[in-house]
Amino acid sequence: MVLDIHSLMVAYTVNVCAVAIALSLALGLRAGRAALAAQVGVVAHALGWLCLIASGDHRGHWLDPLLSTLAMAAMSISLLLLLQAVRLWRGGAPLPTRLCAVALVMPALYALGFSHYPWRVGLANGVLAAQMLWVAVEAARPGATGSWRWRGLICVSMGTMALVTLWRGVLGAFFTEAYPTFQSPHPVNLVGALANNAATLLTALAVLAAFREEAEAQLRELAITDGLTQVLNRRAWNERAEVLLADARRYGHPLIVLMIDLDHFKQINDRRGHAVGDKALQLIAAMLREELRSGDLVGRYGGEEFCVMLSHTREAAALTFDQRLRQKLRQRSQAELGFVLEYSVGLSSQQLKDRRLEDLLRRADAALYEAKRAGRNQLVMAP
Ligand code: GH3
Ligand code: MG
Ligand code: MG
Repeated sequence: MVLDIHSLMVAYTVNVCAVAIALSLALGLRAGRAALAAQVGVVAHALGWLCLIASGDHRGHWLDPLLSTLAMAAMSISLLLLLQAVRLWRGGAPLPTRLCAVALVMPALYALGFSHYPWRVGLANGVLAAQMLWVAVEAARPGATGSWRWRGLICVSMGTMALVTLWRGVLGAFFTEAYPTFQSPHPVNLVGALANNAATLLTALAVLAAFREEAEAQLRELAITDGLTQVLNRRAWNERAEVLLADARRYGHPLIVLMIDLDHFKQINDRRGHAVGDKALQLIAAMLREELRSGDLVGRYGGEEFCVMLSHTREAAALTFDQRLRQKLRQRSQAELGFVLEYSVGLSSQQLKDRRLEDLLRRADAALYEAKRAGRNQLVMAP
């Protein structure tokens, strides 16, 4: 089989443009930040490649340095965007903006030294290879989120491309006679064209897989979260509370359940409107999230009812928690809602006789009823 570099390049151009269009259509503009970065990155790569191909048709013309420099900038930007996408999908922080300098400085130095072939080919390919390697390393980094499926695809495609690009850079810089242009039928160009074709396809598949994984995680999160208050919904709270309770029983940890119900909430809705009622629910939920430790659980149990499970906690500490929350809620509701929001709470602590979660909940509910009966805005401990 004879490999013809020009046919390979035409095939690659068709491929890269098709992938750029297809990914944009598949992901859409309202995808998350990571998917958007990946999508724009693939489009930048396609534009860069088109500039590079066009530059080859203008040898000796002033358009050659312009198109080649634009191509290098677009390739570098596309790799920065792919790196950004991988970082975000892996749960990392966005890239610092100062890194954009890479996509400016490298093409600027490339343009300045355009007449010196070894310099520009060595520089551009060296920097692009380093960027590809960085993407591969970011995908391979253990510990962070993201399944090995899409990370493996990115690693293999970017790692291979880094090697081929480095090979091209070394040839261009130090063995210039052996490597006249990127369109000559040199083995590095043939391998590069084949690798480019495969890497573009694998990267697009990896992007789709990572996007799907992100969407699934969002759906899972939605399924366990209360939409208005962003705390756990009743089903998720029950499931997690069962696990905490089983742990507490096995290891003998103390454990507390608080059933919190806002006072006179119907009046708030009636007098100030449903929207203010919603804000009040969001405020107390946010404060519960802020005040609780990471191992504790808060869930919206009913309309204006929240359930809290405090693990490794005894009654005295739960009482302190209640007083702190009550006082802060008074201040913040006055400041943010314009009136004082109060609640009643029933407390039950885990006892040997409690066989199931329902036993604790039933006692907390009875104590809450007592708190309401005794005049509201207070805590009552279940016997
Ligand atoms: P008490 O002091 O005895 O608890 O009186 P209350 O008015 O708080 O109790 P009640 O159970 O009669 O009223 C609960 C109200 O909560 C009624 C319902 O309209 C309101 N509610 C339930 N879910 C929501 C919600 O998502 N948003 C708003 N704004 N109100 C809600
Ligand atoms: Mg209620
Ligand atoms: Mg109420």
